[in-house]
Amino acid sequence: MKSSEIRQKFLEYFASKGHTIVSSSSLVPHDDPTLLFTNAGMNQFKDVFLGFDKRPYTRATTSQKCVRAGGKHNDLENVGYTARHHTFFEMLGNFSFGDYFKRDAINYAWELLTVVFKLPKDKLTVTVYAEDDEAYDIWTKEVGVPAERVIRIGDNKGARYASDNFWMMGDTGPCGPCTEIFYDHGEHIPGGPPGSPGEDGDRFIEIWNNVFMQFNRDEAGVMHPLPKPSVDTGMGLERISAVLQGVHANYEIDLFQALIKAAARETNQSNLDQPSLRVLADHIRACSFLIADGVIPGNEGRGYVLRRIIRRAIRHGYKLGAREAFFHKMVPDLVEQMGAAYPELTAGQVRVMDILKQEEERFFATIEHGMAILEADLAEMEKTGSKTFNGETAFKLHDTYGFPLDLTADVCRERGVSVDDVAFNVAMVRQKEQARAAGKFKMAANLDYAGAATTFHGYDTLEHKGNIL
Ligand code: ATP
Ligand code: MG
Ligand code: MG
Ligand code: MG
Repeated sequence: MKSSEIRQKFLEYFASKGHTIVSSSSLVPHDDPTLLFTNAGMNQFKDVFLGFDKRPYTRATTSQKCVRAGGKHNDLENVGYTARHHTFFEMLGNFSFGDYFKRDAINYAWELLTVVFKLPKDKLTVTVYAEDDEAYDIWTKEVGVPAERVIRIGDNKGARYASDNFWMMGDTGPCGPCTEIFYDHGEHIPGGPPGSPGEDGDRFIEIWNNVFMQFNRDEAGVMHPLPKPSVDTGMGLERISAVLQGVHANYEIDLFQALIKAAARETNQSNLDQPSLRVLADHIRACSFLIADGVIPGNEGRGYVLRRIIRRAIRHGYKLGAREAFFHKMVPDLVEQMGAAYPELTAGQVRVMDILKQEEERFFATIEHGMAILEADLAEMEKTGSKTFNGETAFKLHDTYGFPLDLTADVCRERGVSVDDVAFNVAMVRQKEQARAAGKFKMAANLDYAGAATTFHGYDTLEHKGNIL
């Protein structure tokens, strides 16, 4: 089954259970300053969960565009390193607004996976929130999952391992305990079951999270019960596609293979099995969808996150030998894969390509110099055995050659080296102070005619926001 058919099957299944199919919302959250980018299917329904907004339906299903490249859920550093993380991905979801709760949500999920998608039951492991006896009993007594494959997980407070089963969209907002479904890709892949020391491996891959929305967390961290208990679920389309297409990594699914081929074509590669090609296939989606939704590369906030992703992509292309703008040429391939499901992408194609091309040309003008400095230092470090890259140099690369800190760190990580970001930040602050002093000086000179009320904001616009997120 192609990933586009899987998306369709999911939506149709929930439509057959009385859910209204709702379109994906924009990646730029509407009217929600707590959120950098849309990071889950529930975002567009936040006010419905909170009881502030009413819809003509109490059940909905969506395929939601998500970006996790900043804020509470940030997977940028995982891309290229795990089989399952993207910056941009599609989250399939079903939602109950005070309608059904745990029992139906669990039964729907199980039926879809084991009856409609025909996954073997013994490959599935589930987790529940440690104190959630109700969910535990539904799984073990009603659905019939053997107790050894229903794992209770705490909320991370003092927990030994990374997973938790209490989902929060951000530091505030709707949240609640959850139950998650994992697929075992087999013993030949390193990694252990959820809740074990090996859980960060890629053997047991989390495919679906069912959140029982029960609280609204306020700024002080206090949990207020929601007007009505609700359900919010999220399943990564790329992850379920990998399972259904019998492959391990998301990058092996149909859609990604097409993008990897496009990346290889534009960078003249014959070996398709290279991490940089995967990164390019990932980043073209995030960049194109963000631009189609109105984000423009810039020096602050959302625009700076976009710029960082574009520049990381260009650096991977550069590593493969590209010396002029190439990345934007992958856009038509993406439109071919995803334009039918997301018409805004087709409509925005020309604009997306123009903006990417401009940004590429800009960075290609400085990348060569910057990379030469970076490479020289890394070569020197290899001789001395040093594992910490000089923060002053990282700052110079940032300030003079437009290398965001995370890009420098990405290059260094490939050599097992980390960046001294304390020294980087010291250099940043020093430069800010100098700019401020220069600003004051200019302001004093201007006072003669501009008056004492003039405020100098020049330093606010400098590209110094590498650590904002
Ligand atoms: P993980 O533990 O693998 O990082 P998560 O627990 O952070 O995933 P959730 O917040 O529970 O993920 O999101 C719901 C679902 O969305 C996940 O079960 C997964 O299928 C999918 N998903 C989450 N993050 C990503 C990502 N970066 N790329 C692709 N799919 C993702
Ligand atoms: Mg995660
Ligand atoms: Mg998880
Ligand atoms: Mg999860």
